[in-house]
Amino acid sequence: MSDCQFTAEYFDYENNKNTPFRCREVALDTGFCMFHDEIYYTKNKQEVLQCFMDKLKKAIDNNEVLRCVGYNIPEDVHLTNKRFSRPVYFSKARFYGKVYFTDSHFHKEAYFKDAIFYDKVHFGAVNFHQEANFTEANFQEANFRQAIFHHKAYFFEARFKEAYFIDVNFQEANFTEANFQEVYFREAKFHSKTYFLEARFKEADFTKAEFGDDTTFENVVFEDQEKILFGVEELSKVSFINTDITRVRFGEVVWGKGKDNRYKVIDEERFEEYFEKFPGQVTLGDVKTIYRNLRENYEFRLRYEEAGRFFIREMELKRNYREFNSEGNYKIKRNGWFRRNVSLAGLYYHLSRYGESLFRPAVLGIMIVSFSILYWSMQSNPSTLQPSFIYDGVSQLGNSTHLGKALERSVADSFPFLSLGSAVVLQDYIIKSLSFLSFGLLAIALRRKYERKFRH
Ligand SMILES: [Zn+2]
Repeated sequence: MSDCQFTAEYFDYENNKNTPFRCREVALDTGFCMFHDEIYYTKNKQEVLQCFMDKLKKAIDNNEVLRCVGYNIPEDVHLTNKRFSRPVYFSKARFYGKVYFTDSHFHKEAYFKDAIFYDKVHFGAVNFHQEANFTEANFQEANFRQAIFHHKAYFFEARFKEAYFIDVNFQEANFTEANFQEVYFREAKFHSKTYFLEARFKEADFTKAEFGDDTTFENVVFEDQEKILFGVEELSKVSFINTDITRVRFGEVVWGKGKDNRYKVIDEERFEEYFEKFPGQVTLGDVKTIYRNLRENYEFRLRYEEAGRFFIREMELKRNYREFNSEGNYKIKRNGWFRRNVSLAGLYYHLSRYGESLFRPAVLGIMIVSFSILYWSMQSNPSTLQPSFIYDGVSQLGNSTHLGKALERSVADSFPFLSLGSAVVLQDYIIKSLSFLSFGLLAIALRRKYERKFRH
């Protein structure tokens, strides 16, 4: 009798290093044991299953490490409500039947790297007290409902056909490059850093999920965006940088913390934090793209009010910063006061919030008319062709004919559709052009508010 020839490497948690796995099971004629021989388990399912269960029971009863690296497990296994007090190694194992770990506790690490589950697997209400490693694991239907990961959860490059992470509690979770056909993270709580970097989702439901710490969906592919649901309250710690989210469904989401920052994405916060020291970290373009994406998304859903907020944030970035190349290096600079406030963008911002405000141009218009009335009534003759700086008309403010003349001139000066009289001076033209400006801005804002509502 000799040992099975199967060899593999696994990460040994007790020695903290990659360790060669040597199978101590008795070899069959083929040189492999019943778990590792590629044919035997297909023909002797009950026997293989029984031996597996015996092995498992022994490990549990004696608090032993369970090493089932590369095992073929041909039938359903019921491991409900078990307590694994030492690390468990199922890397490269293949589960052909259903697997039930429901309500079990893994007090030490659970290592399922590269495992393949050909049928349903139930990790419902399982407690992973230490690291759980499902790197590159392959799932058909994975049910982790109400599981608790007390430690890190690795699902790096894992593949899921159907996955239920409903009401699961995660600490640090890494789903980098994972692939989901259909996944439910409803009411999942991500308490620590979470990575969905470069993951791929066909359908996903994050309804009522809570992201308590930095979470990244950077470079993610949402294949069927109409079926990607983020009906969550808050995404203030979630980044969608370099990810197309133009058709993803967002609920009444708060995007940023703080009173005036409801629509400020975390990437803008990061941009502000890093742009001086590490300008490549989060580029201005990246953040603007997110706002453009969100604006498009909200407009598509007819949520114009909010779309406008994202538009303002994007324009604010344009007004406040500029990109340039210095000796071949990408740099970002915050514009000075003058450029921020007196430039075209600055005036557009102050006078109408980039065409999103009706209030501001209306106030501007009222101010212009009021100023005009005041100005002409202060002249000794409001119809004068030679306005002076003496303002001796003040004494006639009680005279209604005098005021009437001032009013008449102001109306002609201020309203774009009324032509100026024949007797005009420079001041009339100045008032006329300023009021043109306020009317123009008002028109833009009105158009934004009403016309686009009928676009779809
Ligand atoms: Zn073996």
